[in-house]
Amino acid sequence: MTAFILATANAHKADEMRAVLLPLGVQLEDRPAGVADVEETGATLEENALLKARALTEATGRAAIADDTGLFVDALNGRPGVRSARYAGEGASYDDNVTKLLRELSGVPTPRTARFVTVIAAAYPDGTSFCVEGVLEGAISEARAGDQGFGYDPVFVPDVEGRSLAQLSAREKNELSHRGRALRALCEELAKR
Ligand code: IMP
Repeated sequence: MTAFILATANAHKADEMRAVLLPLGVQLEDRPAGVADVEETGATLEENALLKARALTEATGRAAIADDTGLFVDALNGRPGVRSARYAGEGASYDDNVTKLLRELSGVPTPRTARFVTVIAAAYPDGTSFCVEGVLEGAISEARAGDQGFGYDPVFVPDVEGRSLAQLSAREKNELSHRGRALRALCEELAKR
């Protein structure tokens, strides 16, 4: 079984990632206590994912993976994008970010097209690395629906669904989500190596 140390401290994300990767033979280990999180100073998802994965590999001497995700809304010229976690300011809660998004989109006619993009970076102790990407197309609804998932899930309705991501079970979300797609791309890339 291939093993990586996982950069994220977000339990929701870690659960989603393990649910896809374990059946495909990839094990994710928690970041060791004492290895600090890295500041996401990159201008792109790819830069941030690589920053996090490489820092963890350097700190531990082990292969590591990190993901970075952004929500890109067309009517907002791609915002919140790489700033999705801090959209409503440093330390903003998921709810603060959703409230700001709905406020900025008030008066914008539906469908308010958008996409989630996840980049996953894998880094190795020999200094090599690679990235894969997963995209989910959809639209921002006018009100929250559902209580599953996290982040912007209550207001994101995938094109292939009538329901928001927060109305899907964990398994349904992973089957179609940006993160699920990026994880399957990761496994395809690992199989080639
Ligand atoms: P991160 O930088 O990859 O942690 O993601 C940035 C922000 O995007 C998070 O704080 C969440 O608000 C949001 N986000 C990431 N993944 C998802 C998802 O699968 N559903 C909804 N929101 C997400």
